[in-house]
Amino acid sequence: MNDSYKILENRNVNDNNKQDIPKLYENRENCCGCSACYSICPVHAILMEPDDEGFLYPTVDEAKCMRCYKCVSVCAFKTDQRNKGYLENTDIQ
Ligand code: SF4
Ligand code: SF4
Repeated sequence: MNDSYKILENRNVNDNNKQDIPKLYENRENCCGCSACYSICPVHAILMEPDDEGFLYPTVDEAKCMRCYKCVSVCAFKTDQRNKGYLENTDIQ
């Protein structure tokens, strides 16, 4: 089973039977700020916003997001982290 299928299986469904918006990172170690997710989002639902030190991290606008999960699929950084076991015990997609 490849990583794309794992990602699809891990999607959560909320109480309204609507898929949750993707959780792109939990802490700074899960995101290198490359903006690939921002670039691929077809509805411009992702903003890259600075943290306290000025490093950019993605935030997802729930109202705009259509739950296509392209932003998750494009994230090579997390695929690498997942393959190394760093994302176990998190709910990061
Ligand atoms: S594609 Fe992944 S590593 Fe790059 S900014 Fe988005 S969440 Fe972070
Ligand atoms: S799931 Fe799709 S629509 Fe939502 S933020 Fe990611 S790429 Fe954009």
